[in-house]
Amino acid sequence: MTYSTEWNLARYFYTGLDDPKLATDIANILPLTENFSKKYQDSFGSFTTPEQILEFYRDYTTLSHDMATASYYLFYRSSLDTQDLEVTKKMGEIDYIYTEASNQLLFVAQGWKQIGYDRIISWANDPKLARFKNDLLSTADSIKYILGEAEEKVLNFKSRPLGLAGSLHDELTGSYEFTMTIDGVEKKLTEEEVRSYRQHTDRSIRMEAYKSLRRVYNTKQAQISLGNIYTSIVKDWSAEIKMRGYPTNVMAQRNISEEMDDEVVDMLLSEVEKSYPLYQRFLRAKAKMLGLESDFSVHDVSAPLGKVDKDFTFEEAYDLHLSVMKDFDKDFYDYSIRMIEEERIDVFPRAGKRGGAFASYRKWDESFVLLNFTGKLRDVSTISHELGHAIHGHLSQWQEAPVYDSPLSMAETASIFSEMLLGEKVKSIISPEEYKEYLNERLGDIFATIFRQVQYVIFEREVHNQIHTGQELTYKELNGFWRNSQESLYSGSVAYDVGAEDESGWSMIPHIFHTPFYCYAYAFGNLLTFALYNKVQSGELSVEGYKDILRSGGSERPRDLLRKYNIDIASSDFYQSGLREVEKMVEEFEKLI
Ligand SMILES: [Zn+2]
Repeated sequence: MTYSTEWNLARYFYTGLDDPKLATDIANILPLTENFSKKYQDSFGSFTTPEQILEFYRDYTTLSHDMATASYYLFYRSSLDTQDLEVTKKMGEIDYIYTEASNQLLFVAQGWKQIGYDRIISWANDPKLARFKNDLLSTADSIKYILGEAEEKVLNFKSRPLGLAGSLHDELTGSYEFTMTIDGVEKKLTEEEVRSYRQHTDRSIRMEAYKSLRRVYNTKQAQISLGNIYTSIVKDWSAEIKMRGYPTNVMAQRNISEEMDDEVVDMLLSEVEKSYPLYQRFLRAKAKMLGLESDFSVHDVSAPLGKVDKDFTFEEAYDLHLSVMKDFDKDFYDYSIRMIEEERIDVFPRAGKRGGAFASYRKWDESFVLLNFTGKLRDVSTISHELGHAIHGHLSQWQEAPVYDSPLSMAETASIFSEMLLGEKVKSIISPEEYKEYLNERLGDIFATIFRQVQYVIFEREVHNQIHTGQELTYKELNGFWRNSQESLYSGSVAYDVGAEDESGWSMIPHIFHTPFYCYAYAFGNLLTFALYNKVQSGELSVEGYKDILRSGGSERPRDLLRKYNIDIASSDFYQSGLREVEKMVEEFEKLI
């Protein structure tokens, strides 16, 4: 059968930028916020009954939803055409309105603080508010870090320079120009393009891509700027810990927002660090396959094996995904059918379309998926990955709005799980050579999302600790920390071909500038999914049980939720069982040498 391969946004949002409803929705944002403020500003802080808070929740979540509809539409439009200036202009208008609106809503945080810990906890235990429990618990925990209104205002103003440091990083690195010599011709390229050449089959091109990145990032000028931007972000983070009275662990702020206990995160980091040799095993096997045992280098880490990739039409790819879902579960299958039939998957690359792939969903709305399908096996995996997200968003609709979104550490569960299901099927339909390449890519991704992310966080933790205890760091010291953390990750399995060439790697990771310590959630999410997959395959966890975990959205802290399924995320066993899955794949890969 043929599928429609473009989003039908008119069916779900507006007929176009000139739809009068869009103008009305935008014009309504501030009046709606004002009405809400009028209703609650004076009374919210003195609420005493569950009924009052239920009504507040209902109004607040409706307001948040209605406020965001226009900007969801514009985000989707700009994803389809990033160059559409009309859309960009409209987004700018809305941003301005949001700033106004969020100023009007500052009273909400103050109100919670006024209500106080004890009352919020008593509500959390009230059966009438059972469906909001986790939001109440995390609100109760967080109010102690909210300062008074006057201080919060000052911090709001003072936080602008920090935002500026982040955008300075983006603007600066965005202005960098890269050149590469390919077939004797020097070409000007974007960073994105240069990065993708690191996966080229031709080794000299991969090497050239690395050199091209370093020519720009490794200049003294770039290192001084990026080093200073980074340390000022870290200093601000450290100041926030002191001012708001967060626990002294430099990661505590992130752990609180991710609903993760400090000891769980420490366990994750140390268990993965202990397993670094597994990554080295994979790289050694890969070096053998590439015939590069004696000088396997940084620029070979993401290399393909150079085998021909099987090509799929989108119909073949989607049918493959559907057949996997059909065997797995009816809800997964049905929603996959609905996604394509209801025109919520945008499939092919086009000029101006945003790169990569994503799924997007929110309470009360259906999921949308954007792909850039080019017919490769990797693209087939991406379909299952993004559809997994879409289904997760659909299943969590069962939750109330304040507890709809799962924390990031749980957000990759359905996506990776679906990819793994697909992997089993793929094996049976492709040639052994194609499977070897598939496994190489899969393992490359897994090590990048588990091991490399952990290495980033270990680097961050070191830098944050130094700065939090009053050390001044220059880019040279940052380079030193980076080198140490890289060396322990690779431990001789990768040759650095030019002395200190890879030392500035930290300066190329946007995440550590924008959202400190965020990267561990990817590592956790992957390991958790492997553990769940294991349990489902062995029958220890039923498919319904797995779906219940997805349905729970953000209604429970990960640790409490998973405990119900006999998963203890504070135990070493849990991480080792996830890592054993990776080991099995590495063993399989080694056998293909
Ligand atoms: Zn994902």
